Amino acid sequence: MYQHQWVSGESILLPTGKAVCVGRNYAAHAAELNNPVPEQPLLFIKPASAFVNLDEQLVLPRPNLHFETELALLIGAQLSADHAHDPIKAITAVTLGLDLTDRTLQDELKAKGQPWERAKAFDGALPLGTWLPINQMPENPNDWSFTLELNGERRQHGELSQLLFPLEALLLEIVQNFRLEPGDVVLTGTPAGVGQLKPGDSLELSIEQTEWRHKTVVASD
Ligand code: ZN
Repeated sequence: MYQHQWVSGESILLPTGKAVCVGRNYAAHAAELNNPVPEQPLLFIKPASAFVNLDEQLVLPRPNLHFETELALLIGAQLSADHAHDPIKAITAVTLGLDLTDRTLQDELKAKGQPWERAKAFDGALPLGTWLPINQMPENPNDWSFTLELNGERRQHGELSQLLFPLEALLLEIVQNFRLEPGDVVLTGTPAGVGQLKPGDSLELSIEQTEWRHKTVVASD
C-alpha cells in the first residue's frame, strides 16, 4: 500500500488503486504535439505501481523522459455511472504530479496504433506531491491554477478554467467506463510547455492559490 502524505505530514491510509489520466485536455498542449483536439476525453490509466512520492530528488526510472505537470485529484468517495451526483464533492485532496512520458516510444506506439502503456504506465511513471486537503483550495475549480518553473523559468502554467473537459464533465465521463474508488487518483491533463528532463534540472511546482510548493532536482547517475 502506498501511503499518501498530507501537507501536515500525517499519512492518509487509503488503499490506492489506479490513476485515470486524460490526454489533450488543454488546447495549447494538443497543438504543441500536433494532435487534434478530441471530441471526447482521451483517457488512459496508470496503475498503482507507477506511483512514487515526488521527493526532493527525482530519480528517473529510465532516461530521456518528458515531464507533463498536472493537477491530480485524490478521490475520497465512490463514483460510478449510477452514482455520480455532484462528483466534485468526491474529491478529498489535490496535488501536482508529473505524468512522466517516454515520448519517443509513445510516438512509435501511436504510429503503430498500439496502446501507450509501455510509454506512460511503467514503474515510477507518476511522481505525486504531498496532498493538500480540498478545503484549502478555492471553492470553484475554475479559480485553480498551477505553475512549473524549470531551472528558474516559468515553463508550464495551467488554469483549470481552460480545460477542454472541466472537472465535473471529466469525472462524469470517466465513471462511464472506470468506477472511481476512495484512493484512486485522477490526473487532469497537462498544459503546454512539456519537454525532456535532464540530470540536474531543478523543478519548482506550485499551486498558485495556496502555499503549496514543491522543489525537486533530477538526479544524475
Ligand atoms: Zn499527461
